[in-house]
Amino acid sequence: MRKKIVAGNWKMNTLPNEGVELAKTINEYVKTLNQDEKYKVILGVPFTHIDKVVQAVDLNLVSVSAQDCAMYESGAYTGEVSAKMIKSANCEYAIIGHSERRQYFGDTDEVIAKKLEMCYNNDLFPILCCGEKLEERENNSHFEVVEKQILNALINVNSEKMQNTIIAYEPVWAIGTGKTASPEQAQEMHEFIRKILSEKYGEEIANTTSILYGGSVNSKNAKQLFSNKDIDGGLVGGASLKSEEFIAIINAIRE
Ligand code: PEP
Repeated sequence: MRKKIVAGNWKMNTLPNEGVELAKTINEYVKTLNQDEKYKVILGVPFTHIDKVVQAVDLNLVSVSAQDCAMYESGAYTGEVSAKMIKSANCEYAIIGHSERRQYFGDTDEVIAKKLEMCYNNDLFPILCCGEKLEERENNSHFEVVEKQILNALINVNSEKMQNTIIAYEPVWAIGTGKTASPEQAQEMHEFIRKILSEKYGEEIANTTSILYGGSVNSKNAKQLFSNKDIDGGLVGGASLKSEEFIAIINAIRE
């Protein structure tokens, strides 16, 4: 089923006890809402927080995500955290291919494809990120760039795996900049992504895949963005660290 989703990406922020407090506040709020399986709230937390946040929330109300996973199953990869380790902490999701991983840690499309495989092998649901840089939008290659990122990442992903995948479109120029894509720009790209999925997997899978928008989403712009037919919610960075803001964004997917 195509779900409306608000996913927070805390990035490298908060200490575990602060993260637990934030997660509890979100959990308490979600508890007051009418439960409907059409909606989902996910918290993308640092590795050190996963276990504690999983224990602090009701996993029927709030799901937990890692922000990455290793491209290997296990072995001599100092500093890496495997999909199996993440799953063993009852964490259900992993953000894969975030532009900050691509930009600062060398995550290429090939690496991202391997990380996706690790997620599927270990029953983690990936949130696959894509998005163009400012110069790519300015020279009008944004559709081409996003298409390449998606097709390269999904190269070995069959229909069954695709059904367990969320896509997040995050134009790099809008992440952490306060500069949001206009609802028209976001809708146009989301529709394009759905067309790519339809060509590869057929209309049914394309229409049941949740495609999130990310890039300076906040309580003021969320409703306008989420009211577009192909925008199924948001991947939220900065605003996910403030409970009031994040709660307002959760409300925006339900309006
Ligand atoms: C993100 O980190 O995925 C993100 C969209 O960040 P921000 O909302 O701060 O732009």
